[in-house]
Amino acid sequence: MKVAKIYIEYEHMALNQSYLYTCEYLNIERGMRVIVNFANKDIVGFVEEVMEMNPQELESMSYTIKSVVSLLDKESLLNDELLELANYMSKKTVAPYISCLSAMLPSKLKPRSSAKPIKKEVWVVFKQERQVKTKKQSEAMEYIQQMRELSRASFNKKYKTQLTYLLSVDVVYLEEREAITAFREVYEDQAISLVDMQVQAIRQMDCDAHNVYLLHGVTGSGKTEVFLQMAQKEIDKNKQVLILVPEISLTPQMVKRVKARFKDQVAIYHSSLNNQEKYEQYQKVARNEVNIVVGTRSGVFMPFTNLGLIIMDEEHDQSYKQASTPKYHTKDMAIRRGEYHQCKVLLASATPSLESYARALKGVYTLVEMKHRIFNSMPKTSVIDMQKAMRNNENYMLSDTLKQAIKQRLDAHEQCIILLNRRGYAPILRCIDCGSIKMCPHCELALNFHKTSQRLVCHTCGYSQVSIYECESCHSKNLKYVGMGTQKLEEYIQECFSNANIVRMDADTTNTKNAHQKLLDKFEREGDILLGTQMIAKGLDYERVTLVGVVNGDVLLNRSDYRCAELTFDLLVQASGRSGRGKHAGEVYIQVYDPNHYAIQCALNHDYKSFFYQEMKFRHLANYPPYLYISSIIVSHKEESIVKREIQEIQQLLLENTEDNFRLLGPIALLKIQDMYRYRIIIKSKQETSMADALMHVYKVHNETRKKSRIEVNINPYTMD
Ligand code: ADP
Ligand code: ZN
Ligand code: ZN
Repeated sequence: MKVAKIYIEYEHMALNQSYLYTCEYLNIERGMRVIVNFANKDIVGFVEEVMEMNPQELESMSYTIKSVVSLLDKESLLNDELLELANYMSKKTVAPYISCLSAMLPSKLKPRSSAKPIKKEVWVVFKQERQVKTKKQSEAMEYIQQMRELSRASFNKKYKTQLTYLLSVDVVYLEEREAITAFREVYEDQAISLVDMQVQAIRQMDCDAHNVYLLHGVTGSGKTEVFLQMAQKEIDKNKQVLILVPEISLTPQMVKRVKARFKDQVAIYHSSLNNQEKYEQYQKVARNEVNIVVGTRSGVFMPFTNLGLIIMDEEHDQSYKQASTPKYHTKDMAIRRGEYHQCKVLLASATPSLESYARALKGVYTLVEMKHRIFNSMPKTSVIDMQKAMRNNENYMLSDTLKQAIKQRLDAHEQCIILLNRRGYAPILRCIDCGSIKMCPHCELALNFHKTSQRLVCHTCGYSQVSIYECESCHSKNLKYVGMGTQKLEEYIQECFSNANIVRMDADTTNTKNAHQKLLDKFEREGDILLGTQMIAKGLDYERVTLVGVVNGDVLLNRSDYRCAELTFDLLVQASGRSGRGKHAGEVYIQVYDPNHYAIQCALNHDYKSFFYQEMKFRHLANYPPYLYISSIIVSHKEESIVKREIQEIQQLLLENTEDNFRLLGPIALLKIQDMYRYRIIIKSKQETSMADALMHVYKVHNETRKKSRIEVNINPYTMD
């Protein structure tokens, strides 16, 4: 009798096990999804294994075995490698196996049910060369031959009048296609010959076995071209290439350049595709129709069969760590896959994470360096002491120096990027008479005022309400907006430079589909100033940007997080990296309140190494990663007494079951969020695996004994609260 071992989609560790179902006449395979009846409900399950059992054996079991209700997939979705990867992830991140399987698939993969009508557009596709009559026609033919295919709209921009003729002589044909993403477009490629530094870097990474490289290259050193040429080598060997980026919409140039070089061999995979689009891209890779994927975090789970190279650009970026269960780090998954495929893994950044750089110095990864920019030297960077500026009666948002610099750029018709890492108008609304601050009714946090919508918004839980104009405690109308966000700064910059065209980019202006792309296009076309939160510090490459100004450059230093200096340094260096990337020299001004902090000073000199050694000293003294591993357990519930009791039980359990090499910090109370009281314990250990095992035990016990509170385990957390 044929039976299948099936995991149930029920994210509860108590149920982190498989169940047997019969499936005698079904065309069932390992890695497929099925519908089974569990606890009187039809739910989705995953086939872990299909096997033969004799009927006596089945009958002798203590429970009756039901049969699979139906199959959801025609073929297996996850091959053996990916099923094993899920297992690895589950152990490494202390997460239910089934949640790992779900994380690997296009979100709620529903190949047929999500079939919304899809927008179509017409494409011009090259077929064959023919004798043509005029020079313009031959130009048009050459163009489409080189591009292979283009949307009709883009072809018409250049050779509208030639299209009918080319069609009539069979040089091209038209094809109706689903208009999916902004990146279906094909871009023109420019042949680039590498500079010496790039050649050297590629030579250092010329090895066919599995190896992890850390490419430390300053901003503008030409890392992308190195990626492209390394990718080409693998494609020539018939291998597949994965290029991971933190966020597609924030790194449009990367996608454009990969598409320009590799055309329709590329699949793009990112979070703002809808389910249908994700499914299509996923299947394309599974069917071997494309050999390069440019993707964000979840792109690391694409069903490759023959990987030759994995590139992780901006490897330090926080978005590589998933915030929800399973809280995996993309780097761990990439390296695991690299081992399986015996291929190179290339981590790249101008500001590598301390963990990666420390590993490279120890020889675990191979360090490759690119120390100079392709065109100019690094931008001239200056720090502005805002305490001093304010004593001089300068404006607290923009110092006179930065204002002057902006004016010069505007006069020269060059572009500026201004970074302020806070959205909204003002973070605090305070009553001047009684001093009370308007708080979120669900969190222990102040509400942010948003002027464009005239609302008060909680940036943590999303609660919002219309703004108030009278103090709720003393009825005074004397309210003050304290601090500044991007909306307020935009208002002020516009006041100072009434003719400047400002493009504001933050979570509030980018919450619709393709909004990032539209704003960036607008900035490229006609913008003078791009103003935004940290999202504009990432991978932008605009030749005309010659000034970067960072406002409140040291806010991150005030966070109670052991990584705050690293985050500050990264943000400042990455933001400065946007200036002067082309042929014009660039400038950077950083406005801060604490100009002597080493994170600021090192960023000022673009000096990664000094920062690294300085920060490592502090981490060593305070016993923090990369010297050891840490994890956190957060327990939450609406009733504080329950949380208190249950976290103490967890603490007890940890103390009973762990050896001496663990150190526990806490429990301590965190801020209340969404009406939930939260308590946290931090665990420090030299051994990652035994720490994960111990936490797995805690997690299981907590769930199996049906505790009331919710438990969240985070191994190597990025945020501590
Ligand atoms: P990074 O990713 O290291 O910040 P990029 O790869 O974006 O840097 O390169 C910076 C700029 O230099 C880009 O505009 C790119 O087109 C250009 N560039 C890179 N390599 C070369 C080269 N060999 N010759 C000429 N220009 C180059
Ligand atoms: Zn008041
Ligand atoms: Zn809230």
